[in-house]
This record gives sequence, structure tokens and C-alpha cells, in this order.
Amino acid sequence: MNPRILIVEDEPKLASLLADYLRQSGYDTHHIANGSEVEDWVKAERPDLILLDLMLPGKDGLSIARDLRRTSEVPIIMVTARVEEIDRLLGLELGADDYICKPFSPREVVARVKTVLRRLQRPAAEAVDDGVTLDASRLQVSAGGSSLELTAVEFHLFATLHAEPGRIYSRDQLMDRIYPDNRIVSDRTIDSHIKKLRRKLESLLPGEELIHSVYGAGYKYEPPR
Ligand code: CA
Repeated sequence: MNPRILIVEDEPKLASLLADYLRQSGYDTHHIANGSEVEDWVKAERPDLILLDLMLPGKDGLSIARDLRRTSEVPIIMVTARVEEIDRLLGLELGADDYICKPFSPREVVARVKTVLRRLQRPAAEAVDDGVTLDASRLQVSAGGSSLELTAVEFHLFATLHAEPGRIYSRDQLMDRIYPDNRIVSDRTIDSHIKKLRRKLESLLPGEELIHSVYGAGYKYEPPR
């Protein structure tokens, strides 16, 4: 069975363009234009992913995402017309899996959908067995019997590094993973998230350095000793 994508979008042309591209890539689609109809449909039909426009009649995408997250872990890609909005959305920690800014190319959207679905399938098959456990639905990291909560950005950063121990990621690569549009952030942003992330991890596993700086190259994860 094909994965089913719910397109929540009040511009009919855009919605049908997206639907065409997604269907060509092997997805089934369903389209809803009014925000107030989303939650009931999701509850009844359980789509595999939601493309959720921010500005909608009926109920806005922000409230929808927030309310959905209380009961559902369905992957959500938020779509916004303003790139400046993305930083604010990230700060709200809605639990969205990715953010896309209009205008976008439908091809780009399909690529993002694939990436999010692949990322969600991966943990079970390729979990790194190092005593450090990640729970994406709660943004939690656990080790040594205790756990802590991260922000969405910190979690995403950590999950990226943790998935491939020893692999060095440049700041650019990390930014590409974290932010859909890297025009809006500087290298410093990654550094400051890493700094906060390290401080939190240090409280979880005192004396262990999990995230290493590689001079002139970037960052990498090393499992605890
Ligand atoms: Ca809209």
C-alpha cells in the first residue's frame, strides 16, 4: 500500500499541483482546504504524513499542529509563506518534522516528504546500541536510567550526529538538516545550539563528552565510554 499524504492547503491550484507530484512519486493523497476539518479526518483516516499550510480558513496550521500533537505522532511538514516565520515556529517547538517555505518547487516538497518518512522508518532498523536512547515523540534523550528533554532543534541536531557515531558533520551540513532554508541562520546558530545541547548532555552523563568539535571541520558524536 502506498503511503498516504494529507495535503492541507487552501489554494486549490497549489494543492492539486502537489497532489500530482506526490502521486507520480508513488504516494496516495487527500486534500483538505479548511483547517477545521483536519483533526477529525486525521483521527479517522490516519494518514502517513501531513503537509500543513500555516494560514488556513477555519483553523490555522499552528493550532492544528498543536492540537494534533496531543493525540497523534503523525509526521507534520509545516508550510509557511514567510521565511522569517520559520525561526519563530521552531521556537514554539510544535513537534513538526520539517518546515517548507513558499514559494517552493513541488519536487523539493516530494524530496522532503521522502526524507521525513525515511527518517522515521530508520530508528528501529539502525538504532545505535550505545546506551543512549532517543525518543522523538517526546524529544527526550535517555542514558544511565535518567532522561532529559531537548528543544526540537537540539533533538534534531543530536539525532543527526548520534545516528552515525564518528561521522563528522560540517556546520553547513547540520544547518541543512535543521533548517529548511539556511539563509536565515548563521554558523553561530549551530554553535550556540550545540553549546546548549552539550550542557544538557553533560548533566545526563557527567564526565562524558558525547559531542566533539573537530577543528576546522565541524562536529561528531562519540558514544559514551
Ligand atoms: Ca494558505
